[in-house]
Amino acid sequence: MMIDKDPNCAYCMEGDLVAKFGIKIRELAASKVYLFKEQSHLGRVIVASKFHVSEMVNLKPAQRRAFMDDVAAVAEALHRVFKPAKVNYGAYGDTGCHLHFHLVPKYRDDEFEWGGTFAMNPDRKYLTDAEYDELVAKISAALLIGNGDGLFEALQKLRSEIADDGRVDYNESSVLLEALKPFAADDQYIAKIVNELVKIREDGVVSPEESATIIALFDHIFA
Ligand SMILES: [Zn+2]
Repeated sequence: MMIDKDPNCAYCMEGDLVAKFGIKIRELAASKVYLFKEQSHLGRVIVASKFHVSEMVNLKPAQRRAFMDDVAAVAEALHRVFKPAKVNYGAYGDTGCHLHFHLVPKYRDDEFEWGGTFAMNPDRKYLTDAEYDELVAKISAALLIGNGDGLFEALQKLRSEIADDGRVDYNESSVLLEALKPFAADDQYIAKIVNELVKIREDGVVSPEESATIIALFDHIFA
C-alpha cells in the first residue's frame, strides 16, 4: 500500500526527526539524500525514496528504476569525491517502513569494519558543523554536476540553482565553490567566481555585492 506521508516517519516529515541522525544534502528525481551524522566511514549517506513504502516491490517499475538510478548516481558521487575502496549498500528499516539505502564508503587503510558488515550506528565519530557543511557541499556539488556532463551543462545547472531569487545564499555558495574548484585553472571567469566564493566561506556571509558579482561573472560565461 502507498500512503502519502506518515507523521512519525523521519523521511516523510524531515525537520527534527531527520536532524537526530542526518543532514539533507539535496533531492534527486526519485529520492532525498542525507549525510549520516555518524561519520566513522567518511562520506556515509542515506538515499531515501520520495514515497513512504516499505519495500522495493511496493514501487511501480518506473519508480523503482528511477530510485535505483538515484542510488547509483549517489554512489558515483561518493566514488568521485572520496575514492573509497568499496561502497557498501544496506537497506534495512524493519521498524521504519520507509524505503532507504545506507551507502557506506569503506577504506582499506581504515581498519574499522573493513572486510565486514557496517554497524547501523557505531556512535564513535561526529564532526563539527563546519566539517559537515564542507562534506554536504562536496557531495551536493558532485551530484549536481554528475559524471557524464560537460562543463557548460554543469555551469548551466549551477546558474539555474541561483536564478530563482537572483542572489547567492551561503549554502549555494559552498556548493558552487566545490563544484567549480576543479575548473578554475582553465577559465578566468570561473577562477574569479572561485575567488569570490573563497572569500564568502571565510566571512561566513554573502553580501549583496558579492552575490551580484558572481551572477555577473556567470553572465560573462554564458555571453
Ligand atoms: Zn516515510
